[in-house]
Amino acid sequence: MKATNIRNFAIIAHIDHGKSTLADRIMSQTQTVSDRDSQAQLLDDMAVEQAHGVTVKSRTVRNFYQAGDGQEYEYNLIDTPGHVDFSYEVSKSLAASDGAILLVDATQGVQAQTVANWRLAQQNGLAILPVVNKIDSAAADVARTVAQIQALDASLATVSPLLISAKTGQGVHAVLEAIKTVFPAPTGSATAPLKALVFDSLYDPFKGIIAYVRIADGQLKSGMANQLMAAQTTLTNKEIGTFTPQMTPVQTLGVGEVGYVVTGLKDPQLLRVGDTLTSQAQPTANPFPGYQPAQAMVFAGFYPKDQAYHDLQLAIEKLALNDSSFQYQAEVSEALGPGFRCGFLGIFHLQIIRERLQDEYGLSVLTTAPNVTYRVHLKGQDAPVLVNNPINFPDFAAVDFVEEPFAKATITTPSETLGAVMQLADNHKGQLVDMANQGELVVIHYRLPFAEIAYDFFNALKSITHGYATLETRFDDYDLADVVKVEVHINYAKVDALSFVVHREDAPAMTQKLVHQLKYTVPRKLYPMPAQAVVEGKPLARVDIPPLRKNAAVNGEKRSLSKKQALLRRQSVNKRQAAYSDITLSQDVFNAILELS
Ligand code: GDP
Ligand code: MG
Repeated sequence: MKATNIRNFAIIAHIDHGKSTLADRIMSQTQTVSDRDSQAQLLDDMAVEQAHGVTVKSRTVRNFYQAGDGQEYEYNLIDTPGHVDFSYEVSKSLAASDGAILLVDATQGVQAQTVANWRLAQQNGLAILPVVNKIDSAAADVARTVAQIQALDASLATVSPLLISAKTGQGVHAVLEAIKTVFPAPTGSATAPLKALVFDSLYDPFKGIIAYVRIADGQLKSGMANQLMAAQTTLTNKEIGTFTPQMTPVQTLGVGEVGYVVTGLKDPQLLRVGDTLTSQAQPTANPFPGYQPAQAMVFAGFYPKDQAYHDLQLAIEKLALNDSSFQYQAEVSEALGPGFRCGFLGIFHLQIIRERLQDEYGLSVLTTAPNVTYRVHLKGQDAPVLVNNPINFPDFAAVDFVEEPFAKATITTPSETLGAVMQLADNHKGQLVDMANQGELVVIHYRLPFAEIAYDFFNALKSITHGYATLETRFDDYDLADVVKVEVHINYAKVDALSFVVHREDAPAMTQKLVHQLKYTVPRKLYPMPAQAVVEGKPLARVDIPPLRKNAAVNGEKRSLSKKQALLRRQSVNKRQAAYSDITLSQDVFNAILELS
């Protein structure tokens, strides 16, 4: 297809506003899939992915559209990946698009995620086609929704959004016609050396690493000798193709086209999203700058359960391939053995990675308490030490001062929740920078210590706003932090994996809560064990974990009183010999730390 007849675009929307339904409708109206297939919501996530294997996972699909002007167009719909709470995920697909359909549910109006996604699309320089959905619904308030869209930005003030029902198909034809007019055709030179953007990738158990590419210049041929410029990886591609939506092999992909490359690579380290795929024989002179590797802000240890270290290693490597903002490095803990120190964009990202390890690889991992990277300035030393693992936090006597990372946070929320949101930010040491109204929403900027959002800030925000707020965070700078390391001692032995760093003012309350939680989460032994939270060499809080006394207590009735007492005495004798705590740490113990803030 010649580039002038190609359009690459994404659909952006708040969750449940009808993105998948519209995508299906576009596929069926262009006969990309039969109506029967589209019943199954082809672009929709996990269940279908499992039933159809990796092919549906593309979330990118090529449609051929016979337009009213008599010409045929290639419409590449690059679906934004499932989790809209990750703006960086959305960014990846927007980087391969020239336009975005901004879809708004007429029964709900503009929502926080609509605003956040629209802002991202704007930053990526995309042409925007506003569309109001669900006009068939009795609850639709079309006029209000249109007014809200127009109020988003001066550039939208005079546009008339298209009005559709993705469900019935009403108005969708007009969307198909508008796509070719509103969105620009890709530009690029067909005769220049091959230059293709790797905008996503995945690991297929049979085919190895598959790269999703958009061709900027030149031509990609099946079986060609390629190279990935930033990674300096050479390969001969095994297959190239397009998403129909199944992966369908083709011989060539030309300027503006979107498709996949079976790289033949097995090692996930050899490919990074954002890299430039070119020709070995004739490499392009101007590769893409590459995506800024997103900076991991939150770190936690992942440890295998059931000795599955090797499985965990493989799974982590593959996940990192699909998610370039996820980092990892091997580490060994005294209490937990070999594992990985992993870096995430935030706590929510950590949760998603854990879920993916469980869902996609059947692995459950033990996760230690998350923390940020501290800059620790030692007495008599110029350069600070970077510490992202509390175990390595230097002894307080050697520390001059500590700096912690701060975030610039943008919260978009309905006006009526403003008070509750400000209260939440205040409780987390947030400094208000500014705020502005955006229709019925408020956009608030805060400066917050990253450590304060590392725990459950996002969940709390969702909960107080009933899911209507969005949070975007960016690294701002490092600034002074009055923090201390909390060490946990169980039965007089330090348990390294339980160490964490907190703001000094929060330490007394947190350690009290912690030891109380430990009382219920540390597996009991036959003898009582003291659990202590130690800060700067002094125990701040202490509790006794009661012993297991099932023999004596449960079968007591059948025994004489003296026998019972003898048994209790024997059980308590053991405690002296076990000064080292060989306790098995369960996830509950770590969750006890997580739930503290
Ligand atoms: P997504 O989360 O944006 O992908 O939203 P979905 O496409 O999954 O749609 C969310 C819900 O809205 C589903 O129950 C759809 O059936 C429903 N829906 C989508 N489009 C329409 C529409 O035009 N009219 C009505 N009444 N419901 C719709
Ligand atoms: Mg959906």
